[in-house]
Amino acid sequence: PAKKEDFAFQADVNKLMDIIINSLYSKKEVFLRELISNASDALDKIRFMSLTEEGVLGEGETAKLEMKIVADKEAKTLSIIDRGVGMTREDLIQHLGTVAQSGTSSFIEAFSEGADVNLIGQFGVGFYSVYLVADMVTVTSKSNDDEKQWIWESTADSTFSVTEDPAGPTLGRGTQITLHLKEDCLEFLEEERLRGLVKHYSEFINFPIFLYTTKEEEEEVPIDDSEAEGEADEAGEEEEETEEEKEEEDDGDGDDEADAELPKTKKVKRTVNDWELVNDAKALWTRAPADISEDEYQAFYKTLSKDHNSALTYTHFNAEGEVEFKSILFIPEEAPHDLYQDYYKKVKNIKLYVRRVMITDEFDELLPRYLAFVRGVVDSDSLPLNVSREMLQQNKVLKVIGKKMTRKVLAMIKALADAEKSEGDEEEDDEAKAKKAVGEGKDGADAAADDDEEEGSEKGKYAKFWKAFGKYIKMGLMEDSSNRTRLAKLLRYATSKSEKEISLEDYVGRMRDDQKHIYYISGENRDALLRSPAVEKLLAKDIEVIFMTDSLDEYTVQHLTEFEGKRLINAAREGLKLDEDAREKKLHDVYKDKFAPLVSFVKATLGGKVDKVVVSKHLVSSPVVVTTADYGWTAQMEKVMKAQAF
Ligand code: ADP
Ligand code: MG
Repeated sequence: PAKKEDFAFQADVNKLMDIIINSLYSKKEVFLRELISNASDALDKIRFMSLTEEGVLGEGETAKLEMKIVADKEAKTLSIIDRGVGMTREDLIQHLGTVAQSGTSSFIEAFSEGADVNLIGQFGVGFYSVYLVADMVTVTSKSNDDEKQWIWESTADSTFSVTEDPAGPTLGRGTQITLHLKEDCLEFLEEERLRGLVKHYSEFINFPIFLYTTKEEEEEVPIDDSEAEGEADEAGEEEEETEEEKEEEDDGDGDDEADAELPKTKKVKRTVNDWELVNDAKALWTRAPADISEDEYQAFYKTLSKDHNSALTYTHFNAEGEVEFKSILFIPEEAPHDLYQDYYKKVKNIKLYVRRVMITDEFDELLPRYLAFVRGVVDSDSLPLNVSREMLQQNKVLKVIGKKMTRKVLAMIKALADAEKSEGDEEEDDEAKAKKAVGEGKDGADAAADDDEEEGSEKGKYAKFWKAFGKYIKMGLMEDSSNRTRLAKLLRYATSKSEKEISLEDYVGRMRDDQKHIYYISGENRDALLRSPAVEKLLAKDIEVIFMTDSLDEYTVQHLTEFEGKRLINAAREGLKLDEDAREKKLHDVYKDKFAPLVSFVKATLGGKVDKVVVSKHLVSSPVVVTTADYGWTAQMEKVMKAQAF
């Protein structure tokens, strides 16, 4: 008899399973989505391997790249069977229990902060969701890399066992996951419920999914002479016998006409088992965009991203010419949970297909790093099917594809921003409205609030985007010189005149006639900056000042010396360039003379602590302002560097 070996789950996996078992209010059905997604991943892997390795798929049933779902009401089990890569003994031990994925602890943390269990798939630990509905799970698996078939089993009691399957390698290749359902989860054995769920979760799976169905069929069969009367209603359980009866009757020709006055047929109920194909397994991106509904795109996005929200926006396009490809790209509504953990970490955001075959989701050079939040698929006919993952790096076609995709993403973001702007144009700006409201005896703030509530479908989308991904756009501005101008148009800042963030275009559009430069200052928050002595003079001259309050801003702006021909000037720096009239220039000279003794006194007192002491052009009423030399770290930048922010 095969030896059974016991293993303890890794500590975090244990915690994770506890959370799942004790989660009473979550949507339990998500387990099916996770199992289908795992089966699909496993099928993708074996299909990819079969491109370069002869004989990988095997023969007969084993070679069929599909999955099957079977409910057994008597045993109260639900099984999902796939012909994917399968798992070796080591795989089973590592992937299903002893090696914690990075997402394990993230999930535990997110859950403790109120995240729902059904987000589990996003954290790369979806398998364990089986314990939402099952108290025992059996995973039988056969990989090409292991001559034996293994059985993994656990009742989620902090241990699992692995045993060699005494039945031998019956699967050929692939995995069968059998859930022994909890008493209150038997609904997942009901055909109607299963069909609905499988349909829902498999709509965009690119492999056929079959559901084992049982049907009662009523059939008219000829009456067998030897059969006694009055048995017409008896349900014939044995299908084969019925078939035989029919054949016999057909063979006996001539009888029919002879007994014309007697009833010759009877109704028989019989049980028919069948494999019902549930999905059409046609890749969405191969269909014409005009024939795809918004709902279909959103459902596809959810399958692809495991996000429970809809996408904020998307683009579907076919590139033609020397390099041909089809692509659907989405921008999520919110930043994924791990987006801000590490900017440089590997991402799996784009699935790369070649002629409908998934090649990889780990090739992260299609889109630049600053677009890591974009999700999507790209499928090209211009790549060789046997392209190896190693070859991808040097592939020129992929470079062209990546460039085009980047442009498409930036255009999609720009469209969001423009949609917001064109709607905004029809309305008055906040300030004008507030003034009008005061005239009407209404509170200004109220009037502005009224307006916010009207946020329609398009309006507010860009603000949402900016809030979620603005930092990534700022990183892009630093890293992608070829798209710098495009990216600069996406920037948004509050200013001395507007609490609402505006674009640089907006700023330039409302510059004073005599204003030559764009002024900005960075600091903690808008209130502090409004009071900063460094901007006193600018504000007194009614010049709008951009307030940069994000830790990245000052780095970003170093890569943006000008916008639409206007220089960007940091008001916190020493040589503040102002357009002075003759009177102001004269006055400055007078002050310089008058305060020369004070200036040398202060310099002597502070000594080496300051570079120099001068009569400032920044001030109106404050006696003193500390500024930074024209080249060097500003005070705000030093603070940021100390904090080692994002
Ligand atoms: P993820 O799918 O995000 O990697 P899961 O918790 O869903 O996380 O699955 C964990 C791992 O278990 C998978 O990465 C895979 O290695 C393995 N696995 C799960 N189901 C299957 C399957 N049907 N066939 C092959 N391997 C599987
Ligand atoms: Mg999974």
